[in-house]
Amino acid sequence: MFKAILIDKQDNQQRTALETIDESRLPEGNVTVRVDCSTLNYKDALAITGKGPVVRQFPMVPGIDLAGTVEHSSSDDFAPGDAVLLNGWGVGEGHWGGLAEKARLDSRWLIPLPTAFTPRQAMAIGTAGYTAMLSVMALEKQGITPEQGDVLVTGANGGVGSYAIALLARLGYRVVASTGRPEEADYLHELGAAEVIDRGTLSAPGRPLGKERWAGAIDSVGSHTLANVLASTRYGGSVAACGLAQGMDLPASVAPFILRGVTLVGIDSVMRPGADRLEAWRRLGELLAPAQLDAITRTITLDEAIDAAEELLTGRIRGRVVVTMTEQ
Ligand code: NDP
Repeated sequence: MFKAILIDKQDNQQRTALETIDESRLPEGNVTVRVDCSTLNYKDALAITGKGPVVRQFPMVPGIDLAGTVEHSSSDDFAPGDAVLLNGWGVGEGHWGGLAEKARLDSRWLIPLPTAFTPRQAMAIGTAGYTAMLSVMALEKQGITPEQGDVLVTGANGGVGSYAIALLARLGYRVVASTGRPEEADYLHELGAAEVIDRGTLSAPGRPLGKERWAGAIDSVGSHTLANVLASTRYGGSVAACGLAQGMDLPASVAPFILRGVTLVGIDSVMRPGADRLEAWRRLGELLAPAQLDAITRTITLDEAIDAAEELLTGRIRGRVVVTMTEQ
């Protein structure tokens, strides 16, 4: 038996509870993992609360990230005792995920736990930090260097935003953080933001082109914010779009693309090929200091995760939430 958060749906009514489940109910997979830690991402919060169409079949154990130890394996790639990490691949959406003491998974979804991190540290980073790293790598690939000017990070107090600030600052970029929580400015400066701006300056419908401000940007917000970010990106600049916290729409014009040669790069972490994952986690190991992970992270137990999901969606959580399966 193992404990898990289970989401079920009956008569169109979603019910989410912490339950004790028999191992025989674990899904198909060639590796069984004892989960040490998981996390709460925006997507997990949508799944747990039922406020977004994340879960593709019921009953479902949410949790798009996990770090743990292999218990059983019929794969040549992993043996019992190996420390492993999983981000995405539709786990926690269409296959039982990490917010549980056990998970049974396809070995192709797993990577070895990076040696730079403990399971808890890897989950403090989680999909949010790994997506921030992919976004930074995308800007680098577009040739955006610190000398070219300011880089904007939207959704600054969120998981992706916090890591984007920390990583860009560590690489020498001058980071401008956009937030709806100016009272958290000290935290954002500690992460490395040189300047903090009010997200209200970006969130309303704007003009097709504005003053050229950003050499690059990492946007986890979408909608009017992304449209305004594009409109204020400098000639030849690049914007990495990775989220939709404000909305899924993009009410923009082609002006920034055809008049300023701006590039919009899409970032997906879920189906990302293995080589990119390994490279992103290698870079994270190089760039992040353990003390920084502690500053960004709050740790909770599995039975606290349902309430924390509500808090996350109402913008009351700063940075990241690690869910530990063992008592603290
Ligand atoms: P969080 O909830 O931790 O952070 C989101 C942040 O966005 C909030 O902290 C807030 O920052 C800001 N925000 C929230 N609501 C609004 C709003 N209405 N208008 C403007 N800003 C808002 O989420 P994550 O960081 O985990 O994820 C951020 C986004 O990225 C989500 O949409 C998520 O689905 C997406 N994502 C995409 C991935 C991919 O593969 N492409 C992977 C991971 C995440 P503040 O308070 O500072 O304003």
